Amino acid sequence: MPLTLYVDGPLWRDHLKATGAASPGLVPVVKGNGYGFGMASLARRAEWMGCDTLAVGTYREVGEVAKRFSGDIVVLEPWRPYIDASSSSRVIHTLGRDCDLRDLVARVERPRVVLEGLTSMRRHGFDVEQLASAQRSARGVRIEGHALHLPLGGGHLREAERWLADAPAARWFVSHLEVDELAQLQQRHPGLVLRPRVGTGLWLGERQALAPRATVQDVHPVRRGERVGYRQRAATRDGHILVVAGGTAHGIGLEAPPAAASTRSRAGSVARGGLLAVGRALSPFTVAGRQRWFVEPPHMQVSLVFVPGGTRPPAIGDELEVQVRYTTTTFDEVRIS
Ligand SMILES: *Cc1c(COP(=O)(O)O)cnc(C)c1O
Repeated sequence: MPLTLYVDGPLWRDHLKATGAASPGLVPVVKGNGYGFGMASLARRAEWMGCDTLAVGTYREVGEVAKRFSGDIVVLEPWRPYIDASSSSRVIHTLGRDCDLRDLVARVERPRVVLEGLTSMRRHGFDVEQLASAQRSARGVRIEGHALHLPLGGGHLREAERWLADAPAARWFVSHLEVDELAQLQQRHPGLVLRPRVGTGLWLGERQALAPRATVQDVHPVRRGERVGYRQRAATRDGHILVVAGGTAHGIGLEAPPAAASTRSRAGSVARGGLLAVGRALSPFTVAGRQRWFVEPPHMQVSLVFVPGGTRPPAIGDELEVQVRYTTTTFDEVRIS
């Protein structure tokens, strides 16, 4: 109950099925905080969807999905010598350097690997000549395909085409190509097996189905000038202090650095819950149709929120709408109808 993600099950499941149907070869990405749902829940859901492969972000995450999902597991982080390589035949390693390939072969019997190209993302991988030559010269591995991780926002079809032409492979794991770009690519290369790796668009693609709520745990009347909270700040007006479930441990009031470039959208993202050094910040909690101010920075598990006099405060046990960033939020409970 405290900080809960309510999910409209029928709507969400319809979206998952529709996304699966629209994206042949879909490889669901299950990583990090499980996009707010948790890793275990999404692993079971990928099984329910009938997917033959899922992708995790790191080797540490393999154990979280392995018992809940019966298919193959692609690890998105590249294998490095400092990683204790899993020898499970269900694990597909991502490789981006010749030395790692040789090293992995020395440690694991005939590992299954994906060879990754270093795209304009500049995260990991072989450059295009290295990729073509690794494909030709790799020994003692089972190459499952090549991989491309492209920047967000579409418009990277030409880049994908260049890789396909210069480092041919029968199967490509691709990240962040749009659905219509995938369709175009497939049309131009009918024999190619494309495996789109999708997280956000799948799990969080139907926002109507998702309703995060925070429980009001206490309500106190406060008079202007009275001091409250850890920081003993004086209330600026008469009103009520709400103690609401959701603090730093849940990721409340924290935000990833804003992606938005414009000042206006940056201001917007601050208003959604980022804490500025100005001392006051708009909380992500809504009372009577309006986002309310934090009294002070969020505590570990609760936040103090101010409701001015004249607005009827909620009752203990009421649940407030709360805006969250799903990839940084840990809910106490996820209730799927
Ligand atoms: C996280 C990740 C994805 C999934 O990204 P979304 O934007 O959540 O769909 C795909 N590919 C790679 C390599 C990733 O790290």
